[in-house]
Amino acid sequence: FFANVELVPGDPILGLTEAYNADSRPTKVNLGVGIYYDESGRIPLLRAVKQIEQQLATDAKPRGYLPIDGLPAYTQATRELVFGKDSPLLAAGRVATSQTIGGSGALRVGADLLHKLLPHATIAISNPSWENHRAVFGAAGFEVVEYSYFDAATHGVDFDAMLADLGKLQPGTVVLLHACCHNPTGADLTVDQWKQVAALLKDRQLFPFIDMAYQGFDKGIEQDGAAVRIIAEAGIDSFVVANSYSKSFSLYGERIGALSVVAPDANAAKAVQSQVKRIIRTIYSSPSNHGAALVAGVLNSVELRQLWEAELTEMRERIHALRNGLVEKLVAAGAPGFAFINDQAGMFSYSGLSRAQVDRLRDEYGIYAVGTGRICVAALSQNNLDYVAQAVAKVAKA
Ligand code: PMP
Repeated sequence: FFANVELVPGDPILGLTEAYNADSRPTKVNLGVGIYYDESGRIPLLRAVKQIEQQLATDAKPRGYLPIDGLPAYTQATRELVFGKDSPLLAAGRVATSQTIGGSGALRVGADLLHKLLPHATIAISNPSWENHRAVFGAAGFEVVEYSYFDAATHGVDFDAMLADLGKLQPGTVVLLHACCHNPTGADLTVDQWKQVAALLKDRQLFPFIDMAYQGFDKGIEQDGAAVRIIAEAGIDSFVVANSYSKSFSLYGERIGALSVVAPDANAAKAVQSQVKRIIRTIYSSPSNHGAALVAGVLNSVELRQLWEAELTEMRERIHALRNGLVEKLVAAGAPGFAFINDQAGMFSYSGLSRAQVDRLRDEYGIYAVGTGRICVAALSQNNLDYVAQAVAKVAKA
């Protein structure tokens, strides 16, 4: 059976890490990753996570199955984090939240749900978007189209073009929106722009699918979740939100995320939840316990939640400091054209570097970035900032 199976190409970003690992230069830097590293170049183990883990180990419990839609203490806390504790949607019982296998699992379960309920719908994703968006929605059976998003000239959002493209979509089209910290560009909408997008979505009867993988990584938990509230306040009665704790809790390998479905009323929310459960049941039956227990344990403890929020603030402020530092050092190295890096949000920046410049950074300096020019700002450190700035300035000038 397997004699003639086609070899499919590997993930280009993971391929980059393999090339980086094989590079013997001690000054090498991997800016191609999608992970937050701390000053010492390691994935942080948050203190709040470590503390709850120790408590859970002390009170070790038997490992029964979780319900299909996950640990109730986790889904409840997640709903409050994503929508805000005082959200009228929560009070009305209109939000059904399921624990999922990371943010990716939420995207796929959400895609399966929408494809079942809206079998003829197309999905529109931003140009560019996280490369897995196209793959996940395509695998769920969607036709995937793009709406204009990034403006290479300003290094920000081409908002007029975005609105124009969204305005041309057929009613019922699903629109995938990055809540904050847009991956891969770092270009986000302002609150006022979100309001305009929400009004247009409502007016054109488009279906919002919000992907929130970086809540708390730019301005704060509440501000980074503004898109969710603005869409709700616009009176759009049905939409979904996929969120992930991979970055905000530094729990990448625990695969912990959630899908929240907003329905017009509590009865509709129950019915949609029954559909979500059927989908999960036929893929992996029920989710795993550990990541959910960690997140729920932290979010539901006053003390640990405070500690987590402080650690999230530390990560966010460090990213801002690295952005500032990079821009300053680029100016000092004679490359003043990168001030826009300070305006971009989250871990990533579309640096404006061409494929040829990215190739030179890799070949001549051992600095690895994605071919599109995407760099992970959170993989910089005060130790390599000078080296990276000098190298970028050299390839940018030539
Ligand atoms: N959406 C976006 C925009 C992402 O960048 C990522 C992770 N890189 C995900 C979803 C998936 O998150 P997870 O790793 O939790 O599956």
